[in-house]
Amino acid sequence: MSIELKNVTYTYSPGTAYEIHALKDINLSIPDGQFIGIIGHTGSGKSTLIQHFNALIRPTSGTITYNGEDIWGEKYDRRALRSEVGLVFQYPEHQLFENDVLSDVCFGPMNQGLSREEAEVEAKKALQHVGFKEKNFSKSPFELSGGQKKRVAIAGVLAMNPKILILDEPTAGLDPKGRDDILDQIAELHKELDKLRAKEEKAKAVKAAAKPKAAVEKAVKEEKTAPKKTAANTATKKAAPKSKKKAE
Ligand code: ADP
Ligand code: MG
Repeated sequence: MSIELKNVTYTYSPGTAYEIHALKDINLSIPDGQFIGIIGHTGSGKSTLIQHFNALIRPTSGTITYNGEDIWGEKYDRRALRSEVGLVFQYPEHQLFENDVLSDVCFGPMNQGLSREEAEVEAKKALQHVGFKEKNFSKSPFELSGGQKKRVAIAGVLAMNPKILILDEPTAGLDPKGRDDILDQIAELHKELDKLRAKEEKAKAVKAAAKPKAAVEKAVKEEKTAPKKTAANTATKKAAPKSKKKAE
């Protein structure tokens, strides 16, 4: 279970004359690996809702959990959450600010602690994923067309290797061809992210399964190298064959 909202309500400017109830008692659960679209009229609360997914805004009431943990818990690492749950805003201009495309896409991974060189590897991969041509890497993000800006904004988030990608109106303002291209690429990305997730889960399972075996091997090695027969050794000796059996 990935993202879960329980009785989430959000009010803009509560207690003032401008009070707006954008979300009322929302219950929603998004399991891992899903590809979900949210539709609704302008002003129905879509943007408000998705900004809750990576803790950009805090619900007025209700709870949001990510992998079972309350993201507004006192000790919850919301910075880490924002790395895992990447959000691409509706207006790419809000996200682009560096002098050239490549630097812009490098910003996120560098903020995560990578060197410029390492960040460039991620940035180039991400730009390639969204079909952005290398000859335009050195252009200013503000010289680009609407579709190109969108791609760069998406690449900027992808370069941080998020587990979940949220896009606010990814096709708004694009012509039909640009819209189809972006949607095809997003579908492709989803497939890849899902493959990656499955691979990670498999690796985790293998690691977990290998752990008891590694512990047994260590115990056996220690036993072989230990010269004296001590109480601890004897305990290891006795324990090892038993736990080995379990591991197999
Ligand atoms: P959507 O993305 O579906 O168009 P929004 O989440 O942007 O909807 O808006 C939901 C409601 O909240 C609307 O009535 C909108 O006017 C209001 N709203 C959105 N952002 C703000 C804001 N920053 N301050 C005050 N009201 C807002
Ligand atoms: Mg919106």
